[in-house]
Amino acid sequence: MRCLRCTACDRVHQFDSGLYSCPFCSGILEVRYPHDYLVQAWKQTVESTRTGVWKYLTLLPIDNHEHIVTLSEGDTPLIKASALSSELGVKTFVKDETRNPTASFKDRPNSVALSRALELGAKTVAVASSGNAAGSLSAYAAKAKVPCVVAVPEDTPDSKLGQIVVFGSRVVKVRGTYSDAFTLIKEACKTHGWHNLTSVASANPYQLEGDKTAAYEICQQLSWKAPNWVAIPLGAGPLLVGAWKGFKELHELGVIGALPKMIGVQAEGCSPIVRAFKNGSSAVSPWQKPDTVAHSIADPLNGYPDDGSLTLKNIRESHGIAESVTDEEMLESVRLLAGTEGLFAEPSAAATIAVIKKLKSSGRIDSDDTVVPVVTGTGLKSIATVNVQNVPQVEAGDIQSLAKITHT
Ligand SMILES: *Cc1c(COP(=O)(O)O)cnc(C)c1O
Ligand SMILES: [Zn+2]
Repeated sequence: MRCLRCTACDRVHQFDSGLYSCPFCSGILEVRYPHDYLVQAWKQTVESTRTGVWKYLTLLPIDNHEHIVTLSEGDTPLIKASALSSELGVKTFVKDETRNPTASFKDRPNSVALSRALELGAKTVAVASSGNAAGSLSAYAAKAKVPCVVAVPEDTPDSKLGQIVVFGSRVVKVRGTYSDAFTLIKEACKTHGWHNLTSVASANPYQLEGDKTAAYEICQQLSWKAPNWVAIPLGAGPLLVGAWKGFKELHELGVIGALPKMIGVQAEGCSPIVRAFKNGSSAVSPWQKPDTVAHSIADPLNGYPDDGSLTLKNIRESHGIAESVTDEEMLESVRLLAGTEGLFAEPSAAATIAVIKKLKSSGRIDSDDTVVPVVTGTGLKSIATVNVQNVPQVEAGDIQSLAKITHT
């Protein structure tokens, strides 16, 4: 039988309880599949005619497939990035999560967690988000016709806010950081009985199961092998934790022979997990004042540092690395990825390219290694981070000026 295991106190709870956190210690829960269950479920997965995330239905925390809310998430390409590989000096395959229905990987966890919430009888769902998670959940909630409440930090760009508003969610801007939005939604869910679909493991354990499908796909796309390294940008880190769980499940099944090492990357201006990694500490402490253009990963973990500690533990378990990059390095990587592979990422997503560059230069990644940066979200929602101030103007019909400007 599937169960919910507490990552803090190790207590095991029934899957059917529908718990969102441990009732004894408030710890983070994890969906566990016993070995025999896993083997049987994988057999059914291999024979499945479904596509995307739901190809793995038997390995996801849903009892009845009629509860599935889908917008065709997953099945994103793994791009053999030859030009980028030459630039970085290491064999690079880009997992392009911008191709999901709302243009970020958040569609994986939201599709699964909303389906589970409806199965558990949710009447209203809520999310704290820096933009992408809420844009995504709003789309799924619209499709499912369930009311959705959203809180975002005040500095959320309009391009992300627009995607939330268009789907009809009830949205507020919170004066403060992502953590302030997190706490507001957490309290409101307690008061009103809303289901909390915030993309942080302590708020919702079912999302990790959606996140893990990215790992399944990467292995399948590499002919059932794991790469040496997988680079993932970290807010609190559920994508990394979920993906690592996915790799471990495939390893337990014997589907892959070796596990990858996980690289967690944060922005220098908000890097509580990296700080703890470098200190050799096992407990992550909150970051005082986030200062970065990478909004999607600017999570100071204020009020829920245990989520960061769980991510850190997972990175160490994989023999991986937590490292930070500067805003400059991220913005440069946005241009590098665009210019080599024709892929437009937001700065938080391009952080994975920046960190590979940094780790390769310092010799921690070998030139023979295979690396997979997970490009988590599109640049189209973060247009303001591209400088368009110097675009010149010409008069209509002025072909000479055009030639001068374009040097042709
Ligand atoms: C949410 C998000 C992240 C951070 O992922 P977590 O798993 O929540 O830590 C990274 N990049 C993008 C584009 C995101 O939207
Ligand atoms: Zn517990």
